[in-house]
Amino acid sequence: MPNAETTFTATVLGAPRIGPRRELKRAVESYWAGRVDAAELHRVSAALRTAQLTSMRDAGLDSVPVGTFSYYDHMLDTAVLLGALPQRVLDIDDRLDRYFAAARGTETVAPLEMTKWFDTNYHYIVPEIAAGTRFALHPEKPLAELREALDLGVPARPVIVGPVTFLKLAKTTDDSDPLDRVGDLIPLYGQLLAQLAEAGAQWVQLDEPSLVTDLSPAELAAVETVYRILAATTARPSILVATYFGRLGATLPLLAGTGVEAVAVDFVAGGDADLRAARSLTGTLLVAGIVDGRNVWRIDPDPALARLTELRDAGVRVAVSSSCSLLHVPYSLTSETGLEDRLKSWLAFGDEKIDEVRWLATALHEGQDGVAQQLEVARTAVRDRHADARLRVADVRDRLAALDAGDTGRAPAEERRTLQQDRLGLPLLPTTTIGSYPQTGRIRLARAARARGEIDAAEYARRMRAEIAEVVALQEEIGLDVLVHGEPERNDMVQYFAEQLDGFAATAWGWVQSYGSRCVRPPILFGDVVRPAPMTVDWISYAQSLTPKPVKGMLTGPVTILAWSFVRDDQPPADTARQIALAIRDETVDLEASGTAIIQVDEPALRELLPLRHADQPDYLAWAVAAFRLATSGVADATQVHTHLCYSEFGEIIGAIAELDADVTSIEAARSHMEVLDDLNAIGFDLGVGPGVYDIHSPRVPSVDEITASLRQALKAVPAQRLWVNPDCGLKTRGTAEVSASLRNLVAAAAAVRQF
Ligand code: GLN
Ligand code: ZN
Repeated sequence: MPNAETTFTATVLGAPRIGPRRELKRAVESYWAGRVDAAELHRVSAALRTAQLTSMRDAGLDSVPVGTFSYYDHMLDTAVLLGALPQRVLDIDDRLDRYFAAARGTETVAPLEMTKWFDTNYHYIVPEIAAGTRFALHPEKPLAELREALDLGVPARPVIVGPVTFLKLAKTTDDSDPLDRVGDLIPLYGQLLAQLAEAGAQWVQLDEPSLVTDLSPAELAAVETVYRILAATTARPSILVATYFGRLGATLPLLAGTGVEAVAVDFVAGGDADLRAARSLTGTLLVAGIVDGRNVWRIDPDPALARLTELRDAGVRVAVSSSCSLLHVPYSLTSETGLEDRLKSWLAFGDEKIDEVRWLATALHEGQDGVAQQLEVARTAVRDRHADARLRVADVRDRLAALDAGDTGRAPAEERRTLQQDRLGLPLLPTTTIGSYPQTGRIRLARAARARGEIDAAEYARRMRAEIAEVVALQEEIGLDVLVHGEPERNDMVQYFAEQLDGFAATAWGWVQSYGSRCVRPPILFGDVVRPAPMTVDWISYAQSLTPKPVKGMLTGPVTILAWSFVRDDQPPADTARQIALAIRDETVDLEASGTAIIQVDEPALRELLPLRHADQPDYLAWAVAAFRLATSGVADATQVHTHLCYSEFGEIIGAIAELDADVTSIEAARSHMEVLDDLNAIGFDLGVGPGVYDIHSPRVPSVDEITASLRQALKAVPAQRLWVNPDCGLKTRGTAEVSASLRNLVAAAAAVRQF
């Protein structure tokens, strides 16, 4: 039972933490580089937390999430909290260094794995446990951050990853089922709740996003057990179980029945699916995630209020909230002085979303009079957005409507293979790379000089051409068969295209944490996508002019551009994907006309957008594949289409990979020992495939023998006629010396295996 009966009306589920000007990124990286000490890192972090807590308090949230700050990642924080670090890391004495070693590794200690957080582009550290892991509570961080917040007069609600999600996302090193350990964690969570209550917390938030995935009956039983037991704990704060990123379905009544005081439901990602079940909540506080925590659009107030009112009128106790943590959106619009005013009026970043939560709660609980002005501004903005002509460009819509099946198919793969082989005359086991070459200091300096206006476009182009010429010469000298231009002109594989397409806008400070100190700045896709001019043709044809060998044209695919942008929410993503695909298709046609014989369309984010519920997956895969095929079927059958996929567990999308129908697919495989090839065989895949033969995430140069062994292994699954030889991914984060050495070994290994 909780200490005292309390309630609240307005909150968010978590806050961004990297700093409005990426202060934490700089502090952490300076600490890693030995330029500042731990005290300075703590000072910067405390200042960021104080600013954020007081701003949420002053904005009028009557319950404020606390402890969503992290030096690196909240799953890693939870592993520390539960004493679940592997022994190799525990051997490091200093607490902070041990923490960062777990995240990033050291010379001698391998880091924990990292993978994507549900269907977002945020990466968490994967806890490593085994049947023998002895959990123990280390509550210093949540307790300290709670005290800090209470001292500031903040109505603090500590946020902790819940036991089910923690275990579901953990991996075991001994094949045991992580969820078997839930019984060991419950008492630790019980103790933690008691200590938080003792320290003055009235509420605690246990994050359980795993509850929006398909759970087995045994897993559901575990959920019920965990929360029944925790709810029965004496002397504890009130418990909010926070779910997000999808619909709960039958898990909602199950949770409510356990006796926890509140459940957070995501009414953005989950739509209205949980509305009916939510209406029958009696007693449980419904934390209604109605303000989109993952996208940047200002809320449309009337439909939102209608849904909230419906719940309230059904007798439900409702608090208004963001749909998930605000970790996934930028801090504040006020920094965006360069954005067009009209577009800016349509947007809400973190601070603005907190305001939206506040006035929606006021409108719901106290009537609309007190917030009439906020409501009017929001209504006007939404109306203005929908009236903007850039959201409906007739030419694009007409062209898409006129396309039929004949426009998106190619000849059978076998026919294409013959035509392409005649045109290209490549050897068996052709060698190539994934696209980017090292982004040298020289390239970054040129880009910065161009951004500051110190050099003009012509000088910038001259410098980029010099880079291209060097990379082409290097590849010729190494003896690769299919060359690339090296992508020096691209800051980022999505932003580069977004900057050249109409319908996108770029932010100045819209940084979002991707992992650790790494941030991305997703473009805002607000309108219909139009390609005013070719985007890559000059660079590729310049590269091709330098060599008789084929140079691959390099494009980013529609699904990846969609996944790594803030996307318009006024039409289904499938429609937006088709528009992007059309622009990419036009680019492939122009590349082909300029003499490019091979075009690669990268889709590294294909797996990321896969819906969390199995029932939703076929529909997604159908439109994602269709978009890729639309983008790649405008070229002749003699033009070879490549794609590249990475950062993924391919299991669930293996069928879709085949349906992409790319002539050649390069795919991350080095770390998973080529297992993906067996998976492809199992579904009868018979197109070209380039399983990455070495891992580019490490600076280590692979030996000829190692690569030879990888290739021999690949040949057990793939006939030589279909096998390509390439690294796992692009080389932009590596140094030139190691790249050159690695690729020489790759070419030598291919030659050795061809002999055989
Ligand atoms: N062509 C891109 C590169 O080589 C692909 C990057 C990626 O897979 N994320 O950098
Ligand atoms: Zn890749």
